[in-house]
Amino acid sequence: MSYDVIIIGSGPGGYVCAIKAAQLGLKVAVIEKRATYGGTCLNIGCIPSKALLHASEMFHQAGHGMDSLGVEVSAPTLNLTKMMAHKDATVKSNVDGVAFLFKKNKIDGIIGTGKIVSAGKVSVTNDKGEEQILETKNIVIATGSDVAGIPGVAVDIDETVIISSTGGLSLEKVPARMIVVGGGVIGLELGSVWSRLGAKVTVVEYLDTILGGMDGEVSKQAQRLLAKQGIEFQLGAKVTAVVKDGAGAKVTFEPVKGGEASTIDADVVLIATGRKPYTEGLGLSEAGVALDQRGRVETDGHFRTNVAGIYGIGDVIKGPMLAHKAEDEGVALAEILAGQAGHVNYDVIPAVVYTQPEVASVGKTEEELKAAGIAYKVGKFPFTANGRARAMQATDGFVKILADKETDRVLGGHIVGFGAGEMIHEITVLMEFGGSSEDLGRTCHAHPTMSEAVKEAALATFFKPIHM
Ligand SMILES: Cc1cc2nc3c(=O)[nH]c(=O)nc-3n(C[C@H](O)[C@H](O)[C@H](O)COP(=O)(O)OP(=O)(O)OC[C@H]3O[C@@H](n4cnc5c(N)ncnc54)[C@H](O)[C@@H]3O)c2cc1C
Repeated sequence: MSYDVIIIGSGPGGYVCAIKAAQLGLKVAVIEKRATYGGTCLNIGCIPSKALLHASEMFHQAGHGMDSLGVEVSAPTLNLTKMMAHKDATVKSNVDGVAFLFKKNKIDGIIGTGKIVSAGKVSVTNDKGEEQILETKNIVIATGSDVAGIPGVAVDIDETVIISSTGGLSLEKVPARMIVVGGGVIGLELGSVWSRLGAKVTVVEYLDTILGGMDGEVSKQAQRLLAKQGIEFQLGAKVTAVVKDGAGAKVTFEPVKGGEASTIDADVVLIATGRKPYTEGLGLSEAGVALDQRGRVETDGHFRTNVAGIYGIGDVIKGPMLAHKAEDEGVALAEILAGQAGHVNYDVIPAVVYTQPEVASVGKTEEELKAAGIAYKVGKFPFTANGRARAMQATDGFVKILADKETDRVLGGHIVGFGAGEMIHEITVLMEFGGSSEDLGRTCHAHPTMSEAVKEAALATFFKPIHM
């Protein structure tokens, strides 16, 4: 069998690349070693985590947030088995959806482990150990990423007591005490799930701030709001040991700046210290495909590796490890392979943290603009001054817009607030079109909506807000 494109890995990068390539008339196969398509994102990442975040938020609201609206409910009881069944059903409908799209687009989906034999040749081994060799004009490496441990610390992840994000999506009971090592997106999202369901959650983070890399003001506000919900933070803390102890585990950490070590106990420890590119068993060194210093498949601006006919996209190459970044790369590469001009605008990739409230950002942070020596202006608007937010008792947070001081072109947008992950897209579209804060501030927004806070922040950037 000979193909135009063989894609190894069926995550958001691989499956989207496959569909787009097939739509453009190419003959495509996708090789996936998991039993179902959709990669990390659909099976053990974005989708199951959002199913649990939604369900746990409903549970929390039923127990906390309704009395003041005149809705009196007796204390809710948790049926964790049913909540997990909701998550599993959500995953199943999404992964089945990818299988359906493969059929619809006449893509050959092959379950098995893919290995590059050489440019133009890929071997696939199924679970019975049977190997077949497929021929292709182009090979796309879309093998994603895997859990990274704690640098310099040996940790035995058993997915029961010491868990990764994968175990964190399937605990059989709510732990009384949970320690989350790592105050990044995954740690805070899964920490929120278990905190809402009743666990006492402590986040231990190496940096002085959570959500490192996000706008400083935004991460401070997010931390304040999560602390109000009962999550404890140990910042500037370097974890030196995570060991099982009886039925639970102990985490030892010391101040990064120096000082005495502390040890805390937990029933469950979630290791959420990041992810590493997944290239094991792919035959890359035999095929001569170069990796960069961080173990990622090295690619140029057109997703080409150093070997002609072999490409890389998604988490396995440089850039933010986000599903939509992988998808956009998949589309761009399919277009390039079909002889068109594919392109990804890396300056305008939104990022969302699905805590409650959500945290969302696109473009530059204030810290990045300062470091680059770019003169900028800031406009902010708090949800406390937004009518819809008051009506929904969702007044936590603010919108912040950063624009070039000279040209008024919007360079960054940051939102902490209910629905931030949806609202960020109007700033994203504006930035994609090179718009100014005045463009956004003069765009009519429906009333009453949370999005009016985005408009007001834009008004504040180029002149003055109306409602403050
Ligand atoms: C808990 C969690 C929550 C997340 N939430 C979000 C979110 O809300 N939003 C967001 O944007 N991102 C989120 N992410 C990140 C997101 O999942 C990744 O950025 C995304 O999945 C990357 O897509 P990909 O196609 O590059 O790789 P992946 O989705 O990792 O897919 C790669 C696939 O390749 C397969 N594979 C690997 N090697 C081989 C081989 N040799 N042969 C055959 N198959 C192989 C793997 O089995 C896997 O299925 C989350 C991640 C986690 C862990």
